[in-house]
Amino acid sequence: MLIDTHAHLDFPEFGGDLDAVLQRAKEAGVGRIIAIGTTLKSSRSAIAFAEQHPEIYAVVGIHPNSVSEERGDFLPELQELAKHPKVVAIGETGLDYHHLPSERQDREISEAAFGAASTQSIELEIRDEAEKAAQAVAFEQHLELAAATGKNVVIHQRDSWVDTMNILRSYSADVRAVMHCFSGSLAQAREVVELGHFVSFTGIVTFKGADDVRQVAASVPIDRIMVETDAPYLAPVPYRGKRCEPAFVRETAAFIANIRGLTSESFSTQTTENAKRFFGLS
Ligand SMILES: [Zn+2]
Ligand SMILES: [Zn+2]
Repeated sequence: MLIDTHAHLDFPEFGGDLDAVLQRAKEAGVGRIIAIGTTLKSSRSAIAFAEQHPEIYAVVGIHPNSVSEERGDFLPELQELAKHPKVVAIGETGLDYHHLPSERQDREISEAAFGAASTQSIELEIRDEAEKAAQAVAFEQHLELAAATGKNVVIHQRDSWVDTMNILRSYSADVRAVMHCFSGSLAQAREVVELGHFVSFTGIVTFKGADDVRQVAASVPIDRIMVETDAPYLAPVPYRGKRCEPAFVRETAAFIANIRGLTSESFSTQTTENAKRFFGLS
């Protein structure tokens, strides 16, 4: 049995055929799916899926890129949602510096006149710092909620490694985390493991050019690995570029099993045990 530990079932890509998607997951041996929230609305949807389907569990939280649209007052409702019996962790939360205001407007600036550009870039820098600060506050609120409820945390990190680890480090005595969609270096993976946390791999590990990720997947301690799809994104080879769905976690697991010299079955058994322990599943 496999567990897809990270899927966005509420995204519009699954609007038309979720039942068929869930059926294919079952047929592929994916016996549990963790539905991940990215906003309050999406967290409510994850819970609704979990109520409708015994194999689905929910994780509730505000994705760092959605923090500003929730306008900071999400905490009371998130605390309520976290009490639901099928909510098995808090997230996804963390820091994402890839989509800051200056990154979004880089092209416009380079096309603007120099004087105007420098004024604009100062403004953008101020907005970047404000957005980073808001993400950090929200990240800490999620970690505190996790500590208070005894739940683990699903962390999203992009272009923000040092800041993410600095915040996570100070909570590492109280919460356990998984760095989802891990695509960092071996040294970064070691840092995560030494703090007692987990790393989770998506279909990226099967991509051409992902040698570094493969090296990490081959050497992380077997009791700290999980697998996920991050559906609808990041479909593994041979489905790369198509809509990803939970059934495809089987390809990712088989691929990592192979590079570790294990059978798919023994690798799946171990990572499923890890996921059950991490999310407290029976
Ligand atoms: Zn993510
Ligand atoms: Zn995600």
